[in-house]
Order: sequence, then C-alpha cells, then structure tokens
Amino acid sequence: AKRQGRNAYAVFDEAMYASVINEARQRMEMERALAEEQFVVHYQPVVDLPHQRVTGVEALVRWQHPERGLLAPNHFIDNAEESGLIVPLGRWVLQEACHQLARWQADGYAEGLTMNVNLSARQFQYAGLVGDVRDAIASSGVEAGLLTLELTESMLLQDIDAASETLHALRRLGVHLAIDDFGTGYSSLNYLKRLPVDVIKIDRAFIAEVATDAGDKTLVDAVVTLSRALSLKTVAEGIETDDQQAMLHLLGCEYGQGYLFGRPAGPEAIASLLREHAEV
Ligand code: C2E
Ligand code: CA
Ligand code: CA
Ligand code: CA
Repeated sequence: AKRQGRNAYAVFDEAMYASVINEARQRMEMERALAEEQFVVHYQPVVDLPHQRVTGVEALVRWQHPERGLLAPNHFIDNAEESGLIVPLGRWVLQEACHQLARWQADGYAEGLTMNVNLSARQFQYAGLVGDVRDAIASSGVEAGLLTLELTESMLLQDIDAASETLHALRRLGVHLAIDDFGTGYSSLNYLKRLPVDVIKIDRAFIAEVATDAGDKTLVDAVVTLSRALSLKTVAEGIETDDQQAMLHLLGCEYGQGYLFGRPAGPEAIASLLREHAEV
C-alpha cells in the first residue's frame, strides 16, 4: 500500500509538472501572439427587445492560432489571467473595440451604437486601468458614454471600498458600468445600491429555462423588477429561442443578447448586419 501511495504521488507530480510546463509554454506563446497580432475581436449584437433593434455589441476576444485555428476564450483566458498577460491583452481589446466602433461610425451605420468590453479581475485591480480606458477613448475619439465596461459580482465584492473607488474613477471618464453574469456570484444585493452601476446582465443559466421553469421565471421577474426600481438597464444573456424572447419581453426585460439574434462575428459581418438589418 505504501508503494502504491508513492507511485500515486509520482504520477501526480508528473501531471503537475506537465501542466506547469504547458502553462508556461502557453504563456510564452500568448505573449508572442499578442506581439504578432494573432488576437482578434468578435462582436455580438445586443438587441432592444421591444423595438427589435440592434443597439450595441459586446466585444469578445478570440485567438487566431496559426496551428489550432480560431480559439474561444475558454482555451486561454484563465491562463492569461493567472500569468497577468490579461492586462496587456485586455488593454489591446479595449483599444481595438473602441477603434472598431470609430470605424463603424465613420462608415455611417453605427449611430448611437454602444460597445461593451469585458474586464477581468486582474485588470480591475491593476492601477493603470483608468489610464488605459482614458487612452482608448482618447485615441479612438469615440464618445465615452457609448462604452460600457462589464464586471462580475465577485470582482466587486472582494474589496468593496477599493472597487467603489475604481468604479467612480471610471464613471468620471463618462463610461457606463455593467454587472456581468448576474445571479451566479454572491447574492449580496446591497452593493447594487452602493456602487455606481448602470446595467445588469442576467446570466444565461437563468434564461435557458425562463419560458419553461416557474422558478427561473420568478427569479428573472424579480431581477427585472429590482433592476427597474434602481433605474438600471437589464440585459438577458443567451437568448436562443422565440419562447425565451417572448417571456423576457413579457417580464419587461428591455435588452437581450444571444444566438437568436446573432452569434459573435467579425467586424465585416457585424457591419452588414448593421447596414442591412437596422431592424432584426
Ligand atoms: P461572457 O462575458 O459572459 O460572454 C458571453 C459568452 O456567451 C460568449 O462566449 C458568447 O459567445 C456566449 N453566448 C452568447 N450568446 C449565447 C447563446 O445564445 N447561447 C450560448 N450557449 N452561448 C452564448 P465566449 O465568446 O466564448 O466568451 C466566454 C467568456 O470569456 C466571456 O463570457 C467572458 O467572460 C470571457 N471573455 C471574452 N472576451 C473577453 C475579453 O476581451 N476580456 C476578458 N477579460 N474576458 C473575456
Ligand atoms: Ca460579458
Ligand atoms: Ca455574461
Ligand atoms: Ca461568463
């Protein structure tokens, strides 16, 4: 039994070692990828549900890997977060998203279109964040009020005073702030009143069964009501069916996002969507 135990450790160590090596390798690969501009940003439409119009997009990063093809964030975001590479990567996404919005505006079919950009925990704690956001706005020339930064509840609740200070500094730039994946983190609602937040994005987990599960329907109803009481915008994430859309509309949720309206796509595809389907 003792021997077996030792072998088990040996196997464990080897697996650990392999994963450390893999992570280090991927980190180096990602650094090079950033320098060689292998990252791309895709955009997913955000729709005004009552009027069935695209009012904004969310920027979602991808890695155009030379051998492995187009990689979704779940393949590299955690590693970027742990290694800290998310800070320069996130800065690049901010810049790219703001410049893309400026290009769509210059082409004349993005009047009032809003741009949402995700922030990671590491970026949110980084002292240069406010400067990075200010630079992205200044160098692209887009109106700060068109930019919304998405944060998660856990990021805000770690150190609520520090978070509050950063949020206020971002707000002073004129940008808007959204709580992403709402409902999946801590359920302390107190912070909603205390922090300068503009938008709540209800997590896809609650939307999937909203038209078929009474519990989820009640929950989404409550979030929409709360959100309205606090004068916040509400966005339902992950709408895939007409039934879900109809239920959300019925519950008074104003905005939606999901495959029903469009998958994340490159700038050209979004441009034609904006051009041809100002109404979805
Ligand atoms: P998220 O911010 O919650 O983004 C929404 C995710 O849900 C996206 O996955 C999107 O493609 C997917 N989605 C949208 N509509 C539907 C739907 O109807 N059904 C289903 N099943 N999925 C839908 P994606 O692009 O793979 O991104 C995953 C996560 O990676 C994002 O979740 C976000 O947390 C993170 N992420 C993406 N881009 C960035 C970035 O630039 N910076 C940071 N820090 N995180 C990012
Ligand atoms: Ca998001
Ligand atoms: Ca989300
Ligand atoms: Ca998420």
